[in-house]
Amino acid sequence: MYDVLIIGCGITGAAAAFHLSRYQLKIAVLEQENDVADGTTKANSAILHAGYDPEPGTLMARLNVRGAQLAKDLCAKLDVPYLPCGSLVLAFSPEDDATLHTLLQRGQTNGVPELRLLTGDEAREMDPNLSDRVTSALYAPTAAICSPWEYCLALAETAVRNGAELHLDTAVTGLERQEDGWLVRTSKGDFRSRYVINAAGVWAQAVHEMAAPATFTIRPSRGQYFLLDKSEGSRVGHVIFQCPGPNGKGVLVAPTVHGNLIVGPDATPVEGDDVSTTADGLAFVRDTALKSVPSVNFRESIRNFAGVRSSTDRGDFIIELAAPHFLDLAGICSPGLTAAPAIAEYATQLLAGDGLALAEKKDFICHRRRTRFHDLSPQEKAKLVEREPAYGRVICRCETVTEGEILEALRSPIPPRSVDGVKRRVGAGMGRCQGGFCGPRVVEILARELGVTPDHIVQDKAGSWLLASQTKGG
Ligand SMILES: Cc1cc2nc3c(=O)[nH]c(=O)nc-3n(C[C@H](O)[C@H](O)[C@H](O)COP(=O)(O)OP(=O)(O)OC[C@H]3O[C@@H](n4cnc5c(N)ncnc54)[C@H](O)[C@@H]3O)c2cc1C
Repeated sequence: MYDVLIIGCGITGAAAAFHLSRYQLKIAVLEQENDVADGTTKANSAILHAGYDPEPGTLMARLNVRGAQLAKDLCAKLDVPYLPCGSLVLAFSPEDDATLHTLLQRGQTNGVPELRLLTGDEAREMDPNLSDRVTSALYAPTAAICSPWEYCLALAETAVRNGAELHLDTAVTGLERQEDGWLVRTSKGDFRSRYVINAAGVWAQAVHEMAAPATFTIRPSRGQYFLLDKSEGSRVGHVIFQCPGPNGKGVLVAPTVHGNLIVGPDATPVEGDDVSTTADGLAFVRDTALKSVPSVNFRESIRNFAGVRSSTDRGDFIIELAAPHFLDLAGICSPGLTAAPAIAEYATQLLAGDGLALAEKKDFICHRRRTRFHDLSPQEKAKLVEREPAYGRVICRCETVTEGEILEALRSPIPPRSVDGVKRRVGAGMGRCQGGFCGPRVVEILARELGVTPDHIVQDKAGSWLLASQTKGG
């Protein structure tokens, strides 16, 4: 019998597991995919929003601002790439100027520190590639960028090191109320838990309706992106937004913590978790972004991708007890990445209010480090290679990722089982050639270390096979 069982291991479930793992509780996280961060958490803008956008008084507003504060410290402790670059919202017209004033007031009400209005010239001084047509801007110095999948992985790994169990490839298929909690039916058998947390992202409505009558509808909305090569990475130094509209925060241009430029997203209603990209959607993103930063060179695009927002008909995060001992963390659309640690704090308070006893562990672990060979000094590199020669074998040339780092990931609390799992952990395949060179070598290492033949290795999710069969004897 578990004390708390969490359904879904995106950033919401991982943050909840991490936060709860500081208490003496038996925790399990059930994730239907073969890795953590394999839903919306891996495909978003990666912005830790300052918090001027959500309506004052909403959960989004409160948890955004608190989450942004917590993220800074957490990323430092858990070795998650984080860059406090600040953001600018641009105005191009008198109507936009008025919107910026509204955002400023909203931000001040929400408790966002240091917000400031700039003239167009002041904004261009800070970010010289901004359009000449920018008339004013709202500057939010506390906005930051991070690596969303590493953030999720770091939280989940640390929860596991603190005793939480993670069950991958385990889809929850049914929930039955019992006297002392819940019987959770899954593709891997039954689990029993006193409390259940629903952190199932786009599928949170389906999970909710396994436990309680319908109270909200998820209306998935897809956002598409361009990721540009590092040659475009310094095109802007801040996250550049346009004024938000009915479809959300609009198209942004931003640096990434990995040194690239990200441009997107649009907002298109879709069914389920449809992450396909479309020519029309991408053309809209490109044309809209050029209004903010006319010199972006889209010929340097190295990848397109899409993520799906779990927007709902309620317009706010849905964080509430939907049934006895059953907590929804649903409708966690933007700013969910930012808010995640604050959502976890609030969720813990709600569970405590529902009778969950919280006794702190004395030996709670709250630190994590991994080797980043590329960032070491020549002396440190030499020392490491002498100690472990695998760090001397470069597997990904674009990003200078070594075999030693891949082996380290394979020995970590949540080892990768796919080529993209390796990419999310150590960055192999994230460069200009997008895995063209290192992909086959990563397959070989995974197969060797997992003790399977290469045709068992998938690109990402279950079934994304890379190799059909062996063609030559060997
Ligand atoms: C285009 C876009 C841009 C965004 N930009 C930002 C941003 O810049 N900043 C920001 O703060 N937020 C942003 N967001 C929002 C942010 O990405 C999400 O709020 C966050 O990733 C949601 O995380 P999650 O864990 O709730 O959902 P997910 O990451 O989708 O995780 C849910 C998990 O539950 C699992 N699951 C579902 N059903 C089951 C089941 N039955 N059994 C077991 N497991 C199950 C899924 O496999 C999945 O792994 C953006 C979102 C989008 C789509």
